[in-house]
Amino acid sequence: MKKSTLVLNGLNKIVNQKQLRKILAKQIDKHMYKNIVTKDTENLKNVQLKKFGFMSAVLHSVVKNMDKGYISKDATKKLIEVLVVNTWFHDSDKKHINIVNAFEKKYGQLPPNFIVLSPTQRCNLKCVGCYASSNSETTPTLPYDIVDRIVREVHDIYGSTFITISGGEPFMYKSDGKTLFDIFEKYNDMFFLVYTNGTLINKEVAKKLAKLGNVTPAISVEGYEKETDERRGKGVYKKILQAFENLKEVGVPFGLSVTATSKNVDMLLTDEFYDLYFDKLGAAYMWQFQFMPIGRGKNIFDLTVKPKDRVKLYRQWEHILSDKKYLIADFWNSGVLTTGCIAYGRSENGYIYIDWNGNIMPCVFIPYSVDNVYDLYKNDKTIADALFSDFMKNGRKWQNDYGVSHPKTPDNWLMPCSIRDHYENFKKSILPSNAIPENKEAAEIMDDKDYYEALKKYDEELKTFTAKIWDEEYIKFN
Ligand code: SF4
Repeated sequence: MKKSTLVLNGLNKIVNQKQLRKILAKQIDKHMYKNIVTKDTENLKNVQLKKFGFMSAVLHSVVKNMDKGYISKDATKKLIEVLVVNTWFHDSDKKHINIVNAFEKKYGQLPPNFIVLSPTQRCNLKCVGCYASSNSETTPTLPYDIVDRIVREVHDIYGSTFITISGGEPFMYKSDGKTLFDIFEKYNDMFFLVYTNGTLINKEVAKKLAKLGNVTPAISVEGYEKETDERRGKGVYKKILQAFENLKEVGVPFGLSVTATSKNVDMLLTDEFYDLYFDKLGAAYMWQFQFMPIGRGKNIFDLTVKPKDRVKLYRQWEHILSDKKYLIADFWNSGVLTTGCIAYGRSENGYIYIDWNGNIMPCVFIPYSVDNVYDLYKNDKTIADALFSDFMKNGRKWQNDYGVSHPKTPDNWLMPCSIRDHYENFKKSILPSNAIPENKEAAEIMDDKDYYEALKKYDEELKTFTAKIWDEEYIKFN
């Protein structure tokens, strides 16, 4: 019997028994600490401590939600199969090794770990300020055969088993009589994280997800009922609460996605907010995204979380993760977990973003592209070829120079973002002249002096707030 099959069978038996589960969790926690913190000599100690804190929260979240009956046996089996075995035992999986070796031989580097795919711009809501909200026959949507080909290439060429789906509203996707459920079913050895507004997750959809076992929805909230309904529409929050119940009833693990702005940052600094969603409502994880200022005008910058508040959010993240063990990550403040920026198809933990028009971008938050899947496929190329444009290569060079290639002496990963935290460098050294803006707002700021100066000022201010923390708590900490 293969080593991974033995582990899979053993883990399944153990996690399905409550007492054994607790004992196993303690053992795994100890084992993780030893491997991530004690044995590691190549990274900064506090970086490893943060990684351990995050992994420990993953474990805690799974155990807690299984104890409460919020994660079914089928979902656990799939989670172990796809996430644990495929991640930890990929190195002993011949098929996976062959794929990765073939990629390295052909392209001279290892493949990225995943992609974010937005197959449709269609959405059933009309949220204030959302550029994506439209719902008609002409709303940009990738044909099913293209979505299928992209997923197949991620699986067969990148050797990856994980895809994030975003939108639009993914549960609105329809093409040639197919929906994303056809993809989830076809690629049942892959795991899908789906960003959704949650309003279409009725009992029937929840049951289908439970049967599949390889999908977790991350549902968007803006805060509590008032804040969510104000932006997303009256009655939306109640539908979200119902979606939570539908998912818990059939044991599908779900999470939340929250955009931090200057308006809701005070709420995100209170413990009550997290206690409600994790303890009372049963969320397994929460991803925080700080509002990204793309577009002209003062309003855009007024909504952005100020550097001093960003540091407060960083402290809150530290506290919630270590004291409460709730599983939370913030795309900017948690940069230490991923050795900095993960865009530009980075080899380790990296990704690229493909939107509903087939445009391939380095990151969801970098609204510029030079490649497009339709063009690539017309020329018998694959999504692997898009990793070698000047745009992607410039970004990876910056990531390497910044810290990926010297993780013992990196630059400040409390400001990891290649575009938002280092805009001057992004414009001068990363964005090539042939890059095409994704939308009107991205086009407007391309040569806008005021925008350039405003982001430069933000970056300088952020540096003054984070440099001391980085130096004392990371570089000098041993
Ligand atoms: S460009 Fe910024 S938002 Fe995108 S992965 Fe890098 S750090 Fe994150």
